[in-house]
Amino acid sequence: MTVPFRWKLLGSYLLLILLLGGGLYLYLDQRMEALQRSVLQGELLTEAKLATLMAESGMRDLTRDAPAMATALGRAGSARVTIIARDGRVAGDSEVPPPALKELENHLDRPEVNAAFAGGTGQALRYSATLKTDMLYVAISFRTSGGPAVLRLALPLAAVNQAGRQMNTLLGAGLVSGLILAMLFSYILSRIMSHPLRLIADSAREIGRGNFRQRLAVLGSDELSEMATVMNDMSSRIETQMEKLEREKGRLDAILRGMGEGLMVTDSAGAITLVNPAFCELFGVSSTVVGRPLIEIARYPDLNACYRHASGERSEYHREIVISGIRERVLTTHWVPLMDQQKHLGVVAVFHDISDLKRLEKIRKEFVANVSHELKTPVTIIKGYAEALLDGLVISDPQRAVSFVEVIRNHADRQAELIGNLLTLAELESEEFTLELHPFDLEGVVRRAVSFLGPKSLERGVTVQVTGFTGLPPVLMDPSRMEQVFVNLLDNAVKYTIAGGKVEIRAEAEGERVKVTVRDHGPGIPPQSLTRVFERFYRVDEGRSREDGGNGLGLAIVKHLVHLHGGTISVESTPGHGSAFIFTLKKG
Ligand code: ADP
Repeated sequence: MTVPFRWKLLGSYLLLILLLGGGLYLYLDQRMEALQRSVLQGELLTEAKLATLMAESGMRDLTRDAPAMATALGRAGSARVTIIARDGRVAGDSEVPPPALKELENHLDRPEVNAAFAGGTGQALRYSATLKTDMLYVAISFRTSGGPAVLRLALPLAAVNQAGRQMNTLLGAGLVSGLILAMLFSYILSRIMSHPLRLIADSAREIGRGNFRQRLAVLGSDELSEMATVMNDMSSRIETQMEKLEREKGRLDAILRGMGEGLMVTDSAGAITLVNPAFCELFGVSSTVVGRPLIEIARYPDLNACYRHASGERSEYHREIVISGIRERVLTTHWVPLMDQQKHLGVVAVFHDISDLKRLEKIRKEFVANVSHELKTPVTIIKGYAEALLDGLVISDPQRAVSFVEVIRNHADRQAELIGNLLTLAELESEEFTLELHPFDLEGVVRRAVSFLGPKSLERGVTVQVTGFTGLPPVLMDPSRMEQVFVNLLDNAVKYTIAGGKVEIRAEAEGERVKVTVRDHGPGIPPQSLTRVFERFYRVDEGRSREDGGNGLGLAIVKHLVHLHGGTISVESTPGHGSAFIFTLKKG
């Protein structure tokens, strides 16, 4: 339980007041009694002196006049009056009737009486067995015709004590009301005194909560105002530091957000303490993984093995890992243990996705292999036939020699076509390549393509039907490149349509675009190959394509050209029922 400072302050004030008040009360109690007694003694002495003067002048005979004198003096004053003869006999007493006087003890042994006979006055404080109370005695000697006598006044101390008690009650009441007043003032004072402390405490609490903007009012020049100044300085310094930290954090956050590489930091126990968005994307997790053990979030054994290696060996570690998922990815990972002196604080890991690089490398390798493969066969054939001609094997048969040369020329043509296609593709795929597009009518282009392939279709007995081009709005195109699109598509359609079959080329306007469909009634394309036919060197039936003089580049060129025209291309096919290549172009 916390006791507020003002209660402590109030408590200490009260303790002080109680100690002082109690001490004062005890002291005054003692002193007042003594004072009262001495005052009473003085008064009694004066009274006794007066009484002796009256006794001296008013008595002729001690034995005869003393009882009446004592009674008269007793009545006039408050004390008991006793007149004692020189032999100690009581001659008169204000409270004893004359006949009983002789029964009283001899008073010569009373100290005050003795002292009075010896020196004029005597005083004593003694317990009276007769009255059962403390008594104050004052005795003064005086002269009578019958010799010296002593007049003694006796006053019970009960009266003094009662006055003392009254005094004490008054003193007590005064002290209690003083205490109550003091308590009230102490309370107010403690509140006033503790107010700045409360403000300082509130300010410290606010600082604790992270509010460094508030400032304490500095009043006066005491220690508390000094403390307020220190607190203000402190919060202003913390505020500056926090702002600096915030800025640093903002910068770090921006760097982490902008980083292409995934970044992860763990503590020494393997719990994740920081990840950036790239990491979350790579591993398909959200930033809520922070605080969870790495082993729990990553079901990739390689990842955990790397972490264990880096934290166990406490040295930098590089490793390429593969993470499976919807898309398999290859990552290079760099693990750095975080060390402070010899203490292991955790691990920082950076993940770089090199899947694209790997893919490009694979494509490049495949491309080189494909090109070599494509070139190898015709080169081997050409070489074989040329060697046969050189060896003079067919010299005697000019007919065969001509056919050999024709074979050589055909394969040289195919090679030239392949090289031409490769050069076209390289040109189309280069980043800086663009087409100059202008509005033209498609009809002229399609007619030229059809007539270009006229001999081939005639040879195969395939009819080409062109519909919808007349009256079509112009489209944005490069006519010679667009002609190549039609030639390639039509060439395939004629090639794959059985003899006597029909190929249709249809055009129709669709909103801002013109849609062209090249449909044949050939064998069609299996569903698994539909997305791949636009890839370089992809062929559904390699042997057949090669036989037909295909090199697997025609559709790749078509796709690039359509895209360069700002259009889209797709293929629909039902095996056994032909294929339809559909592309769109923008209206001019
Ligand atoms: P190719 O020179 O081999 O014809 P393409 O790039 O033009 O190369 O075509 C790629 C592959 O797509 C072909 O080998 C063939 O298997 C398939 N293909 C293209 N057009 C058709 C079509 N009209 N009917 C059936 N298959 C086709």
